[in-house]
Amino acid sequence: MSMQQVKRKMERLKLDNTVEMLPDLTEEAAKEKSSPLEFFDRILSLEVEAKEERRIASSLKVSGLPKGMRLDNFDFLFQPSVEKQRIDIFSDCEFISRGENILFFGPPGVGKTHLAVGLGVRAIEIGHSVIYYTLEELLAQLKKRTDIPVSKQKGRAYVKNALVIVDEIGYQALDRFETHLFFQFISVRYAKGSTILTSNCSVLDWGQIFAQDELAVTAILDRLLHKAHLFNIDGKSYRMKDFDQMLAKKRDNHV
Ligand code: ADP
Ligand code: MG
Repeated sequence: MSMQQVKRKMERLKLDNTVEMLPDLTEEAAKEKSSPLEFFDRILSLEVEAKEERRIASSLKVSGLPKGMRLDNFDFLFQPSVEKQRIDIFSDCEFISRGENILFFGPPGVGKTHLAVGLGVRAIEIGHSVIYYTLEELLAQLKKRTDIPVSKQKGRAYVKNALVIVDEIGYQALDRFETHLFFQFISVRYAKGSTILTSNCSVLDWGQIFAQDELAVTAILDRLLHKAHLFNIDGKSYRMKDFDQMLAKKRDNHV
């Protein structure tokens, strides 16, 4: 049997990651005196690993998650109002299987988006489906299908993903129609999955965001908070970190 024949069969099976490595892998196996089972396992492990990497890369792309924000590059020392242990509890993403929500509150720059996205990345790594929107993007999506209620929109990303992240609630005031669409969205998520929200203002001020519609706000919060974990991040803006350091340096130089 020739190497070429084996390679052709590997190509037919789409074992694309090991086909070119086959001569090296067989040589390595001979050198290490691997058993047939060990050799077979080596090939399959390399294929599984590569497939997993491709799955993660493509899911990250589809999710729309901003790049570069992960749980492992969040500086917990800079933001002591968020306990690392408390975030770590969620890094197994069991909250998604339980259909629970996570809400991050706090002023701009404290890391709300970073933590929400970091959890989203973890969820994808584990194998959950994730979609990220700013509130503005979500509303634009919801407005594309106003002919049928959100609960009937089976194929839409904001319905079918296991985790939906809605970032930046509070920067934009919604009118009554948008508030109603958002309420429908939250109702569907309540029935179907898990949601992470970030907001720069407390729920006490959500009336101002949602068209002064207290009834809708109550209905939204009722569903949202039923199975929810809340983080109030109260600290310095990370965006202003360098600026603060620069100011401090300037001050030091003057004394
Ligand atoms: P928010 O959503 O609260 O306004 P972001 O999460 O967007 O803030 O943070 C602003 C920028 O600072 C982002 O680039 C983010 O990655 C970074 N950042 C914020 N907090 C931290 C932190 N504790 N450690 C590392 N980077 C951070
Ligand atoms: Mg943000």
